[in-house]
Amino acid sequence: MTRLAGKTALITGSARGIGLAFAKAYVAQGARVAIADIDIDRARSAADGIGEAAIAVKMDVTDQASIDAAINETVSAFGQIDILVNNAAIFTAAPIVEITREDYARCFDINVTGTLFTMQAVARHMIEAGVKGRIINMASQAGRRGEPLVAVYCASKAAIISLTQSAGLNLIEHGINVNAIAPGVVDGEHWDGVDAFFAKYENKPLGQKKKEVGEAVPYGRMGTADDLTGMAVFLASPDADYIVAQTYNVDGGQWMS
Ligand code: NAD
Repeated sequence: MTRLAGKTALITGSARGIGLAFAKAYVAQGARVAIADIDIDRARSAADGIGEAAIAVKMDVTDQASIDAAINETVSAFGQIDILVNNAAIFTAAPIVEITREDYARCFDINVTGTLFTMQAVARHMIEAGVKGRIINMASQAGRRGEPLVAVYCASKAAIISLTQSAGLNLIEHGINVNAIAPGVVDGEHWDGVDAFFAKYENKPLGQKKKEVGEAVPYGRMGTADDLTGMAVFLASPDADYIVAQTYNVDGGQWMS
């Protein structure tokens, strides 16, 4: 269990959910992690739960000064950053005729602009420090195809797949591999919000949408954060050295259905 021994990972939005599962999986493989999140209280309790291999870092991916400070704090604590996971994101949904500029701007600011400029700042650090690093972006099946009520979130995740291709092709000359993971539906607090959106727009009782999407997954259930950790460890490990600019589905077969 030492595939990431001696490595340091910064994971955005890792105070809970998928990012926190990745943090635990990386530590189990010998890495140290910065739990970077806008919710610093929750990040602190997540880091406390992991122990000495984790620190909590306050980070708002929409704010360049906050991105830079989070990187500096991680480098001060652990020496360098070998692995970045751009995981922080928000979900938003509405029919096209009801989308507001504010919701669109906020979703793109966190999901796309936040990913791009965190990737840029960490890539600059890696190049300067001579680190042959790994960057993993969180895409989604929502980025593979549109959905009627989810235009903005889907477009933001399609942008992540595209950014991963361009950044992957650009940064490999510095020995930095950029790839992405495209999960399907993954149970967790994020889905409570998604379910609430559909309860409103599809007039369903709370919990109904979640039940339906779980039943529609070819595997037979929604994913869990732990279903994704194998891919997250693999992409950060030496085994993925020749993998560049790819987005991997980890979705229980949803992409095929
Ligand atoms: P989540 O909502 O449970 O966690 C997101 C975290 O991001 C939270 O801790 C939140 O505080 C943090 N965050 C929000 N805004 C931030 C900001 N401006 N700066 C820093 N941190 C911020 O989400 P999750 O379900 O764990 O999803 C993680 C990733 O996986 C996201 O990129 C999401 O789009 C993607 N994804 C999730 C699913 C799913 O069904 N859950 C499916 C496909 C892809």
